[in-house]
Amino acid sequence: MHILLTGAAGFLGSHLADRLLADGHSVLGVDNLSTGSLRNLEHLRNEARFRLEEHDICKPFDYGPVDFVYNFASPASPVNYHQLGLETLEVGSSGTRNALELARRYGAGFLHASTSECYGDPQVHPQDEGYWGNVNPVGPRSVYDEAKRFSEALVTAYHRYHRLDTRLVRIFNTYGPRLGRKDGRVISNLLTQALRGEPMTVYGDGSQTRSFCYVSDEIDGIVRLAGSCEHTPVNIGNPTEWTILDCAETIRRVTGSRSLILFKPLPEDDPLQRKPDIAKARRLLGWEPRITLEEGLRLSLDYFRSLLDEPVASR
Ligand code: UDP
Repeated sequence: MHILLTGAAGFLGSHLADRLLADGHSVLGVDNLSTGSLRNLEHLRNEARFRLEEHDICKPFDYGPVDFVYNFASPASPVNYHQLGLETLEVGSSGTRNALELARRYGAGFLHASTSECYGDPQVHPQDEGYWGNVNPVGPRSVYDEAKRFSEALVTAYHRYHRLDTRLVRIFNTYGPRLGRKDGRVISNLLTQALRGEPMTVYGDGSQTRSFCYVSDEIDGIVRLAGSCEHTPVNIGNPTEWTILDCAETIRRVTGSRSLILFKPLPEDDPLQRKPDIAKARRLLGWEPRITLEEGLRLSLDYFRSLLDEPVASR
């Protein structure tokens, strides 16, 4: 297939490009490099089946016929979408609409990268796809959460009104090599701090929870969903839930670090708990994650060691 992938220079986008190329497809990546990095695509420089167009999808685009569109363009870490709030709203609305129009023009399939942020600070635990969420529409996270909720509505409307062949994946916290150096995520911050022997910044008392999926597991679930006929949202994430403090301890053990924990204030509207119910993905796709947090951290060590000179972002 000839595949168009928006956000190809991002963390997930670049891993998805690798997987699609390995599966024999040709991939046209589109990225404006606002949060993505050419470094993530460096190894594809001589790959004849890959091309990158530097373009902001909020402006209409058309590079010719495609069979399938993966829509992964968006700032995604809290640090990034706080800095790029209006751009985040724009790419979830106009940008996603431009990508949908392109798929419609060429009769292509469409998979949109949505998020567990659709559940906000959830009052149902674990979160299944039937839960409508608990989102503050005007809080600091709203630029991301509401953009993604709007794009889910938009994608669904293209399916409903135009019969577009769409998929929606709700992605939970994912980690691994190529996580942005300055995106301030918990795994990238704590791993880098532990490797440097610096204090590890835990926000709040560290009792809030997240469920971390290693990137190869995440990509496998996404590709399986693309190959299915499911148009309603599907959670793809690792259901093993960690408190942030336990996650910090695990990172300290895996790195052999003696870093101390430095408690910092909990950011506003930081969700207290997150854990996907993946019964739907298991049933429909035969998918479940295989890599434990400890294994995934070990697989990530070389990459984070290579970044040690670069600063960590904090909120
Ligand atoms: N966090 C932390 N220390 C850091 C970065 C993040 O304790 O240096 C916490 C953050 O407050 C949140 C969790 O880790 O509770 C996950 O944050 P991240 O930015 O990775 O993603 P989120 O799931 O909040 O979108």
